Amino acid sequence: MKLWMAYPFLRPGWRDFGLIASAAAILVGCQRGPPKERGTFRQPDLVEITNLDPTIRLDIRYATSNNFLHRPVYAQARAFLQRSAAEAISRANQKVKAEGFGLMIFDGYRPWSVTKTFWDSASAYERAIEFVANPKKGSRHNRGCAVDLTLCDLKTGREVAMPSDYDEFSERAFPDYQGGNAEARAARDLLRRIMEAEGFTVYKAEWWHFDFSGWKEYPILDVPFERLR
Ligand SMILES: [Zn+2]
Repeated sequence: MKLWMAYPFLRPGWRDFGLIASAAAILVGCQRGPPKERGTFRQPDLVEITNLDPTIRLDIRYATSNNFLHRPVYAQARAFLQRSAAEAISRANQKVKAEGFGLMIFDGYRPWSVTKTFWDSASAYERAIEFVANPKKGSRHNRGCAVDLTLCDLKTGREVAMPSDYDEFSERAFPDYQGGNAEARAARDLLRRIMEAEGFTVYKAEWWHFDFSGWKEYPILDVPFERLR
């Protein structure tokens, strides 16, 4: 016997079906895992960038409180990319050395659940202008094919001044911003030239973000750093 036969007041009506449908829609909205993508993908081969080239420096901001969330979202300060992208970064590092600089990585592969955390913490405005990636689509960082980086001075090891800070949300972050200091713009343009020569494309709103060609061929991943060797 169904429960509502014994207790007629429990019997679901059309209004209740509407409520159930709304609850289901909310559940779908509260996505619990990475989006299911159709098609065939390459076998992921994430490598730790500093294993390939120990002279590349790291400043993994999301493993510290020095980021837009003001709290760590990574348990470990490590940077990974798909092998071909990591090899390209290593070549780019060799090229900037000739100019007296080194590469300093802010972020590489980012597990999908971290993209979800960014989205859940963002304001409606930040979501609307895509300051954070929509977890329904995932981020190119989730595929291990995007890198956030800057230049550092080889002599001092310090970050080179750029037209804006990392993750700064302003027009100064645009790679074609023409204001500010000429030296900072020159450093930004050098980083872009060297990265483009190795198959990366700069993101139109962030001088520090580069996507590796062929990023679509890799799946969205949600493996935490602790599980990567
Ligand atoms: Zn990025």
